[in-house]
Amino acid sequence: MSAIHTKVVIIGSGPAGLTAAIYAARANLAPVVFAGHMYGGQLMLTTEVENYPGFADGIMGPELMEAFRQQAERFGAVIHNVDVTAVDFSQRPFVIRTADDEYTADSVIVATGASARWLGIPGEARLRGRGVSTCATCDGAFFRDKDIVVVGGGDSAMEEAIFLTRFGRKVTVIHRRESLRASKIMADRALKHERIDFIWNTAVEEVVGEDHTAALKLKNLVTGEESTLAADALFIAIGHDPNTGIFKDQLTLDKAGYIISDDGVVTNIEGVFVAGDVYDIRYKQAVTAAGSGCKAAIDVEKYLESLEAAHQAEAAPV
Ligand code: NAP
Repeated sequence: MSAIHTKVVIIGSGPAGLTAAIYAARANLAPVVFAGHMYGGQLMLTTEVENYPGFADGIMGPELMEAFRQQAERFGAVIHNVDVTAVDFSQRPFVIRTADDEYTADSVIVATGASARWLGIPGEARLRGRGVSTCATCDGAFFRDKDIVVVGGGDSAMEEAIFLTRFGRKVTVIHRRESLRASKIMADRALKHERIDFIWNTAVEEVVGEDHTAALKLKNLVTGEESTLAADALFIAIGHDPNTGIFKDQLTLDKAGYIISDDGVVTNIEGVFVAGDVYDIRYKQAVTAAGSGCKAAIDVEKYLESLEAAHQAEAAPV
């Protein structure tokens, strides 16, 4: 198999990866983007995005990502909806493998984002797709007039709970503490919602049901009291883990698996840059991801210029 060479490979296709693609493509770098088999990142799993600047009335997440993609393609980005299976950053050019092809690249932008976390409790894996889900927009409509539970206390949990009131007879948010982590606007909206109830200081310990979710076993973390709550669906919204499995042992990661960048969007390997939720442990917003994608592409451009200048200096007669 002969490798296909390109100046810049972008791994990931959320706001970070596609913004990097727009900038790199406009800089005539003809970036190759590995978008993954489920392109578009986390906004593909969300409903209305109200805080992305420029859309006064909000925009649906998938619609926004489709626009990002078209904008990148318009300037010449080549986007493949395939997963990267392995990388080798120890040699130059860098090697990027997919199931069918091998690419080499002078520079790489890692923008692989993060994936939803699961609780890891009995019954959860067995009843996944049978009432247990991490995606309200994907699965909410299956639970019309049913009792729906959302676990989590962050913005994702509030957003999912509010969205699920369109379908559920009742939506109950179960949170392990007694105050929410969510932003004030989202928390207030959920707390004031007449069809959302809250159960505080409580962990979901088991999902009960034969071929569909029927109930949840709960434990009050203050009193230790155990109880059972009838529920037809459990939506888990407890945060995300960075998608960095293929970079382990090559890029420096923190304990939670996020890529460490001590300075802007650079990694421990010169020529490999990072953008978006895969290294952002603090902000994790679509707009900050897009901003870091822009920075990474600008840094790639500068890096490739310096590489080119070094080659020319080497080739010049003394
Ligand atoms: P998050 O802010 O990290 O919140 C995760 C929530 O899940 C926390 O309340 C946490 O509890 C709880 N949790 C974590 N592990 C748990 C476990 N094992 N069992 C039970 N509960 C657990 O994650 P997120 O809500 O996905 O948000 C991530 C980022 O995206 C945030 O920066 C958020 O602002 C942003 N976001 C923004 C919007 C928006 O602006 N519309 C929408 C979605 C997400 P503790 O509070 O006790 O830690």
